[in-house]
Amino acid sequence: MGRVGLIKIVFASKNNGKIKEIKAMLEGLPVVLLSLNDYKDILDIIEDGKTFFENALKKARVVSEFTGEVVLADDSGLEVDCLGGQPGIYSSRYAGENATDENNMRKLLENLRGIPSEKRGASFRCVLVLYQPDGAFESFEGGWRGQIYDKPVGERGFGYDPVFFLPEKGMTVAQLPPEVKNTISHRAQAFHKLKKSFKKHVLSEVEGTGRSAAW
Ligand code: IMP
Repeated sequence: MGRVGLIKIVFASKNNGKIKEIKAMLEGLPVVLLSLNDYKDILDIIEDGKTFFENALKKARVVSEFTGEVVLADDSGLEVDCLGGQPGIYSSRYAGENATDENNMRKLLENLRGIPSEKRGASFRCVLVLYQPDGAFESFEGGWRGQIYDKPVGERGFGYDPVFFLPEKGMTVAQLPPEVKNTISHRAQAFHKLKKSFKKHVLSEVEGTGRSAAW
């Protein structure tokens, strides 16, 4: 492999849990990752899309227009089968606009009270959008099946991790070592697809033409 300059990518999130995971997944790639914590002046982006994809694309476009940089945006959430896919795109504000992870989990457990484990199937879903300042973009999806446990267990991760139980592992995601979560999660699966495309398009072009960050 030839010499590749560092590529700057802004991750369109202030969520430290997500930033940490994306940083770990980018390891080994010639990328410097910034986040919205590095752009304090940017206004809050209203997530008014009807799908994860629409929200991710909006975040990516707005942040790229503001920063002039290549942007990676993630929209993700939890879809619970017996709740018709709720909380879905409302996962981070399920219990209200300023709800904490704990408030959201409590509301979810309340809504599932009395429902037996075999009917508590759920999926984490993630859509990533990689967006260039000229408006070109690509999107990548990942999903992860599990069950909603009847109480929070475990200290790791963020969001709904303490109530997302993985039957094949016999534990919740919050009990899983981060390096394991980061290879099998919905975000990891979407990221795996992104990485393949990134390696194919970005790195080969950068090596071949001396260009720095376009693909
Ligand atoms: P977003 O920032 O609008 O994409 O909101 C995503 C929300 O979905 C988070 O605040 C969490 O509540 C939930 N979520 C997404 N990914 C995960 C995960 O990996 N673990 C736990 N909760 C997650």
